[in-house]
Amino acid sequence: MKIDSLPIPISLRTKYSALGITELYPPQAKCVEAGLFNRKNQLVAIPTASGKTLVAEMAMQKEISDGGKCLYIVPLKALAAEKYEDFSGKEVKVGIATGDPDQRDEYLGRYDIIVATSEKTDSLLRNRAEWLKRVSLLVVDEIHLIGDPSRGATLEMVIAKLRYQNPNLQIIGLSATMGNPEELANWLNAALVTSEWRPVDLREGVYYNGAIHFHGSERILQTPKKDDDLNLLLDTAEEGGQCLVFVSSRRSAEAYAKRAAVVLKKKSEALDLYAEKIAKADTTPSGKVLANSVKNGAAFHHAGLPRAAREAVEEGFRKGEIQVIASTPTLAAGLNLPARRVIIRDYQRYEAGVGMNPIPVMEYRQMAGRAGRPRLDPYGEAVLIAKDRDAVDVLFEKFIDAPAENIASQCQKENELRNHLLALITTGFAKNRAELDGFMEKSFYASQKAVHRRLDRNIGKALSYLIESGMITEETGGELLGTSFGVLASRLYLDPETASLIRDILGKQETFSAFGMLHLLCMTPNMFRFYLKASDERLVDEVFSERGDELWCEELSEEFFAAVKTALVAEAWCEEVPEDVICENFGVGAGDIHAVVENLRWLMHASARIAHEFAPRFDTDVRDLEIRIENGVKEELLPLITLRGIGRIRARRLFDRGITTPEDLLSAEPKDVVGILGTVLTKSVLEQAAKKTGRTLDAVPLLIEEEAVPVKASETKPQKTLFDFGE
Ligand code: ADP
Repeated sequence: MKIDSLPIPISLRTKYSALGITELYPPQAKCVEAGLFNRKNQLVAIPTASGKTLVAEMAMQKEISDGGKCLYIVPLKALAAEKYEDFSGKEVKVGIATGDPDQRDEYLGRYDIIVATSEKTDSLLRNRAEWLKRVSLLVVDEIHLIGDPSRGATLEMVIAKLRYQNPNLQIIGLSATMGNPEELANWLNAALVTSEWRPVDLREGVYYNGAIHFHGSERILQTPKKDDDLNLLLDTAEEGGQCLVFVSSRRSAEAYAKRAAVVLKKKSEALDLYAEKIAKADTTPSGKVLANSVKNGAAFHHAGLPRAAREAVEEGFRKGEIQVIASTPTLAAGLNLPARRVIIRDYQRYEAGVGMNPIPVMEYRQMAGRAGRPRLDPYGEAVLIAKDRDAVDVLFEKFIDAPAENIASQCQKENELRNHLLALITTGFAKNRAELDGFMEKSFYASQKAVHRRLDRNIGKALSYLIESGMITEETGGELLGTSFGVLASRLYLDPETASLIRDILGKQETFSAFGMLHLLCMTPNMFRFYLKASDERLVDEVFSERGDELWCEELSEEFFAAVKTALVAEAWCEEVPEDVICENFGVGAGDIHAVVENLRWLMHASARIAHEFAPRFDTDVRDLEIRIENGVKEELLPLITLRGIGRIRARRLFDRGITTPEDLLSAEPKDVVGILGTVLTKSVLEQAAKKTGRTLDAVPLLIEEEAVPVKASETKPQKTLFDFGE
């Protein structure tokens, strides 16, 4: 099917023609035949790289030219930026929804396409963003994540709510291959488009004893090294191809990159530049390993890396300079980084309480699907590594020839129900039990199960919890109403348990303890916690015995101690301990510190709102801690850090010169201030200081031209983007 024959705007045709796209891929043509341009709902379950994004883009552009508005839901914030780039053009206005969770972001209404994560969309629904009602086409990328235990329920409820608001909504679900696409298509009232077609041939095989075994053929490798995983890399590198290696832990990813660097020994100026960039972005020991490996053409990639280092790795790989990336499975679900050969080295994963378990087939397919770069590679290869002869057959059976799993709704779980029922009640989707039941009757869960006993029982339990915790009330006529606390919790996008814990435990305290507050937040279900390693135990025990009286929570569980470790990292950040020292002391990556800060920033912001209502005596304490978390500063810098333009480094420099308050700024030697802040910033800062202290600007002394001591980008305030879900 020719692009020219499609009812899409001319600008889009021009864009495709510039990209050399003149004809639809067969699965794309199937979508058109199934009513893509006639506003028919579709579930498109086709392999990676077979052109799903293009399908969505064509439908969105058609919808916009007909006067509609589109919402594109992505699973990760990093993908939102990628899609924003993909869809932006002269003729369409594209926006990303990334604001704080209790904002309506009404400005987004100006855009034709809005890209958002499912959690952000949910929070916009809770804050009643008006423009959401005008969305006429909803695209859900990676819609199979409806079955994800931690995030699936939100995605399901978001789709259900958007449909409820606009019965005329067209939905396009984009999915990896799954076992039961018919069930999902049925729920969405959508035409199902499936296909096995791929733009590049994918050969799947198992490596054992010097050969890759495919169905019906095998490839014998030269095996100069004793390590299978390196031989597979060298074999591809010799042909000029790149490899992705999937391993199960960050440590393994780093170790592989190190070993690969030794055997690859690739050299180029470009690689040196990438290494330099990385060394600057990540000064931790792990950053050094990465920079040294990249110099020789090998890299690793995981969520512990700071963003700038990750981006350098991605770019270096896309440009063909970096030969191999060893990665944890996060990468398979996220970025679009294809390679000639994908090596799936670790296909077992440790699960607490279960031990080692094989990864799901869907996950294997997602990794394998990264093999083969369209138009660049003659073929793609996905290779599992067998430990013995018998394992070869087992791996074929368990992964290569196995059908993908069925996906199942997650929204019947009690903790999910508490959260989502509260939102349904406080935002007026349901006013009584019958309406709640009616809403849930239309869920994917209800469409999958003939008997809803479990759902029914869990709705009852969740409602009791919400009533007991003072979030909703049940009136005599059965009407369910959100209390001011319930409405606040929902708008702040907090799990009801998180909101209750903050209100109850903070409300009970006589004196404030910053460490107690951080630890409390680290105990809530909305905070991620570091795992405790054996090496952490002594440190955590020590803190517990010496600083036990600063802690507010009493429960001595594994979570409690993991929360102690996480709170210690946050505290070190607020005490201005350098990042590389924090990483060294706690065995975490620089990216982890940022994740803790992002997560706590949101929870501190929410806590400030809750404290204001329910523990006003701690108003200032909580707000001060919020500022300290946001900026990574000790308490003594608070008077300076609140001035616009002053970050942690500048505030510290001023403080060390004896300039500790806005008053000091005004009475200091001007050349001292200019020496630290530069002329332009000094002027603005002195104006702010004058305003704060009630003095007039006339009193501000004349400024002397002098250059400020430069501040490195990494030393300025962290970027103001709120919580990054899903990593
Ligand atoms: P998916 O979302 O299914 O993983 P993408 O939509 O990202 O795949 O497409 C993968 C690549 O294929 C992109 O670089 C895209 O530009 C290209 N592509 C998509 N459709 C076509 C087509 N009909 N002809 C040529 N290239 C295409």
